[in-house]
Amino acid sequence: MRDPRLVAVTATTRADQGALRVRLNVAYLRALEGAGLIPLVVAPLADPQTAVGLLDQVAGLVLTGGEDVDPAHYGAVPHPALGTVHPERDATELALVQAARERDLPTLAICRGIQLLNVALGGTLVQDLPSQRPGALSHDPGDDRARRSHAVDVVEGSALAAALGATRIDANSFHHQAVEQVGAELRVTARAPDGVIEGVETDPDSPWSAIGVQWHPEELIDDPAPWDRGLFAAFADRCRRQLAFRRIPSRT
Ligand code: MN
Repeated sequence: MRDPRLVAVTATTRADQGALRVRLNVAYLRALEGAGLIPLVVAPLADPQTAVGLLDQVAGLVLTGGEDVDPAHYGAVPHPALGTVHPERDATELALVQAARERDLPTLAICRGIQLLNVALGGTLVQDLPSQRPGALSHDPGDDRARRSHAVDVVEGSALAAALGATRIDANSFHHQAVEQVGAELRVTARAPDGVIEGVETDPDSPWSAIGVQWHPEELIDDPAPWDRGLFAAFADRCRRQLAFRRIPSRT
């Protein structure tokens, strides 16, 4: 039986003390747990299809922050300021997005996640904001992770605005890349005052609900403002509802 609380959460691997180890900021787990969800951590696997098999067991997918997406995936030449790339993670997460889309599995994409989601749907990225958008705000001020450093304007009527309960919020910011051309099936739902894209989502008529944000809501769940808790609560709600009304019912 598919558990409506169980969600797949992507992670990375990093060499540490002579071994390659799975890594994920615990803040994601706390935020999801706080919304009543059970996070299942999915590391990059040698065969992306192995990870895809997990999506038959879960109610949702969370794409987390991390490395830059290899620009080869959106047909671009690497910019000199491109950061670390992780080929196995890219392959695993790109396969997960396609599989989530095929299954109409609610998807929440954060930071690298919004970028990966956009690339998976044929979009492109600004590879380095400081050099390619020199007039932009600082999107990586190196702050405390829970400091809201810039405003975000959210499109009225979007699923994101409904989840946040607001059309203007302040967000934290830890990214040097951003969505450039928006992928098929996605629309822009939020921008910083400098025009940098901070949110995308699938069309409201699409059976597949995917929401991406460029900031880190998982670091803001203890903040006095309810916006980011609302985002996780809305995701948990979508997971429950989607499972209840699936076109192909889960076996019980
Ligand atoms: Mn930002």
